[in-house]
Amino acid sequence: MNTNSIFQAAQEAFLFYKNLSGKEKGDFLEKIAEILESRREEIVPLAVRESNLPEGRIQGELGRTTGQIRLFANLVKEGSWVEASIDPSLPDRSPLPRADIRRFLSPLGPVVVFGASNFPLAFSTAGGDTISALAAGCPVIYKAHPAHLETSRRVANCIQQALIACSLPSGLFTHVEGGIAEGQALVQHPLAKAVAFTGSQAGGMALFQLANQRKEPIPVFAEMGSVNPIFCFPNKLSKEREALAKAFIASLTLGVGQFCTNPGLIFVPASQAKAFEASLVAELQGIATAPMLHPGIAQAYYDAIQVMEAQEELRWIKVSDPKHLLNGSTALAEIQVADWLKDKQFQKEVFGAFALMVVYQDVADLVEVAKQLQGQLTITLWAEPEELQSQLYLINLLEEKCGRILFKGVPTGVEVGHAMQHGGPFPSTTAVQSTSVGAYAIKRFARPLAFQDMPHSLLPDALQDHNPLGIWRQVNGIVTK
Ligand code: NAP
Repeated sequence: MNTNSIFQAAQEAFLFYKNLSGKEKGDFLEKIAEILESRREEIVPLAVRESNLPEGRIQGELGRTTGQIRLFANLVKEGSWVEASIDPSLPDRSPLPRADIRRFLSPLGPVVVFGASNFPLAFSTAGGDTISALAAGCPVIYKAHPAHLETSRRVANCIQQALIACSLPSGLFTHVEGGIAEGQALVQHPLAKAVAFTGSQAGGMALFQLANQRKEPIPVFAEMGSVNPIFCFPNKLSKEREALAKAFIASLTLGVGQFCTNPGLIFVPASQAKAFEASLVAELQGIATAPMLHPGIAQAYYDAIQVMEAQEELRWIKVSDPKHLLNGSTALAEIQVADWLKDKQFQKEVFGAFALMVVYQDVADLVEVAKQLQGQLTITLWAEPEELQSQLYLINLLEEKCGRILFKGVPTGVEVGHAMQHGGPFPSTTAVQSTSVGAYAIKRFARPLAFQDMPHSLLPDALQDHNPLGIWRQVNGIVTK
């Protein structure tokens, strides 16, 4: 791998590509989606084989990937995402005239993307990070995840075919294979302008620190997972105990628990803990073990369960098949809230189908829990509407601890749309102001750029007086078309 030539080509491609219209960028993205779809029969079985995920899941993930690509294509074709803002000159203003100032969002430059093992398509080669960077106008240098290398090569080839079909420079997308050293060299290259990552806390933090030690520090958008607590309130639980147990176990075991939004903590009132436990155990009966994504993840799950087993504060409720912990067996344990509050290790993510049921005595305990809770991608409240009326303080605290707060359903199953927020306070991510899912993900790879008194004919279309793109803009602070 010659990192220098990769970045030189990316930089050259960037200086050309960033000036293309939203329509041209959108056409390129649509071409990627079209080629991916046309190679579904070749790609799906490969991804199934490499990830151990069932075919139905991978079929759905390919649809999610192309849907996501089209969302960004539409976004850039429409064009208003650049947040154009125009303050025309006021030459006669007294005591001083005002200059003509026009601002919009401009792409950052080459972005290094690390693929995720748990989404071989939707968060990997042509996944949300790559596509939102390309949509913003940035070239991508993609570090393939070794757990699904062949799938990654084929998807990379789809992107390369789309580049050729759209007569775009090959430097816009580079597929890099290798290990930790190769990934770190990409982050350290002076022409890299941002990093996107989905994976472990250790990996995300290593890259974050590396990026901050550069002569020119660059942003790292690392999504490092969380335990996604669910808070059960007494009335809701007594009314819907079985349905909630079913929903919880389904969410916990979905994809063998290998989702960053997997619910690893559930807070249950003491008055109903025994009954809820019985419902959870009944639900677990039908859940079979399944292989995890790769042996490293299975081993990490096994090791984390061993650590938990050594904690005397835990009472084990059930391990679905103890002989097959290395095969993604589901594990449930109980802890009292007072013990949970004493030790931050009970907030650590165990990546896989493991959850702690935390038994609380009084709803007031949840305020202390909320104060001590680390940053999360999601927090869920299962409560009757009237139970929440007196909990505005708790809700206020919880809003500060997560990126998405749910009042119904389960945290797994992240909708890809305009309003989605998939991110959260540290340690769930390194960039609390950002999302890695949904339309706003594009904003990670752009920066504000203002032009002062630029000759009108040289201004980008988005900032010209007659609004040739027909986009929403602010003129003198008023939103207009
Ligand atoms: P990972 O170990 O974090 O690796 C993800 C990617 O980052 C890989 O390409 C890896 O490269 C690279 N990487 C990791 N540490 C690095 C470092 N210090 N310097 C440079 N590159 C580095 O994630 P994983 O292999 O998918 O799974 C391991 C654990 O990550 C899981 O057990 C789970 O805890 C967590 N995980 C979290 C999520 C989430 O949604 N947040 C998703 C998947 C996994 P190499 O593979 O070449 O080493």
